[in-house]
Amino acid sequence: ADLHCFKNEPDTNFDLKPNKIWADSIRRAWMRHKEDKPYEIPVQIGTRHSLSEKKRLYLDRSQNDEVCVCKVNMASHSQVRDIVMLAEKDASEWRKSSLDKRNRILHKVADHLAAKRGHLIGCMSAITGKTFNEGDVEVSEAIDFCRYYPISMSRFEALETIKISPKGIVLVIPPWNFPLAIPVGGVAAALSGGNSVILKPATVAYPVAWEFVQCFWDAGVPKDALQIVCPDSRESLGYLTAHPAISHVILTGGTETAFRLLESNPTCPLSAETGGKNAIILTASGDRDHAIQNIMTSAFSNAGQKCSACSLLILDKSIYNDTDFKLKLIDAVTSLHTGSVWEGGTVVGPMITSENEKLLYAINHLEDGEWWLVEPEFADEKHYMLKPCVKWGVRPGSYTFTTELFAPLLAVVCMDDLEHGIELANSSDYGLTTGLQSLDETEHALWKEKIEAGNLYINRGITGAIVSRQPFGGMKLSAFGGGIKAGGPNYVSCFVNIEEASLYD
Ligand code: GLU
Repeated sequence: ADLHCFKNEPDTNFDLKPNKIWADSIRRAWMRHKEDKPYEIPVQIGTRHSLSEKKRLYLDRSQNDEVCVCKVNMASHSQVRDIVMLAEKDASEWRKSSLDKRNRILHKVADHLAAKRGHLIGCMSAITGKTFNEGDVEVSEAIDFCRYYPISMSRFEALETIKISPKGIVLVIPPWNFPLAIPVGGVAAALSGGNSVILKPATVAYPVAWEFVQCFWDAGVPKDALQIVCPDSRESLGYLTAHPAISHVILTGGTETAFRLLESNPTCPLSAETGGKNAIILTASGDRDHAIQNIMTSAFSNAGQKCSACSLLILDKSIYNDTDFKLKLIDAVTSLHTGSVWEGGTVVGPMITSENEKLLYAINHLEDGEWWLVEPEFADEKHYMLKPCVKWGVRPGSYTFTTELFAPLLAVVCMDDLEHGIELANSSDYGLTTGLQSLDETEHALWKEKIEAGNLYINRGITGAIVSRQPFGGMKLSAFGGGIKAGGPNYVSCFVNIEEASLYD
């Protein structure tokens, strides 16, 4: 097993004509109409399908909630109980199967994901409002995880000084903002270790998980070894997360959720990647045009709904006071087309909710010194589509400075010099991603020495970590459970028991 043999799966270039035609055909297949009947997703317990009383409808935010894409049967308390019981028994032999066999199957999963790329992109657009480009990179990342984790697990197994064994049942609780890549990563890492997995996707993104789970089952992962569930209430979810049979939880989500999980099941190990309030610092030496491009993708891709997103732009005071820079920034921000994901030219799609209270507060309040360089404005009646906006003059300690908004709102802050900028960036309780835009190597060195975050990027955007090249994970309140990074060589070690071999045999 050689990690150097690993190659990242390339993304699609949608500018090429055949790919454009392909994208149009996916749009036609997924953009449903009012008269279409929504498809229905059952509760699945092992190999058995069943229905349930409580169903959730998935409406298309790009079409004003006027089209229902699908219905999900949500699992009742007793159905959740059956799912956990089945995982406890896991008669599938997955745990006893050889690592080679498991890894071969995971490689096959990658091939199935690749074959289903268009279908998965369309599903993400319909269900979570991702643009095609945003969905496309997720498919590549998901494929990477399915190929990378088996290689890294084999590397551990080959070490003569240790013996690895499955932990038991791993519960994977991924977020809605990366409804494909993040859950596929957790599931692939846990399955490679021989664990049985229960996947509890974010409810709002459940249909995406349902689509990719088929790729695992079709590739040969037994249905007892990988189960998927959408609990119908707080109680049935609480039953699942506090269940003593769960050996490990992988969470990507809010910091409060991580605290709640720890409270409900204190002895169960938790690996969690949580929130972020991430800054890009632009110094006087930085290339301003290049910086603006990186700021656009970091702050506004996925409508700003990324833990890794840049929500603070810290400017050297000479740039902060420069009218020319302000005009360029306004131009760049207002050129990003906000709208339906079914229009080819959309760069910023709808947000997952129109009721993000933190965002609404930040939009409706200006604190001391704050003003809008680009005013917040919605592109649709339902207020899902917020055009990218920029709040200028944000000061440390203010609501907008400290709160993770998960929206296309960028706050601009002034720094006296780099030391001051680093202090401002480090004043956050979080520490996930961060960036420096500077052409001065002494500044790079100072920043690298003092900045506190898991992922550091120089003269690059601060989102879109790439499997194996940029393992992803934070520090401080952004990470729980040791902060071993996803997409890095040691991630899989979290999901196996490691026994040290005796040195005296
Ligand atoms: N891995 C993603 C990135 O590097 C972010 C994941 C997240 O937002 O949870 O942008």
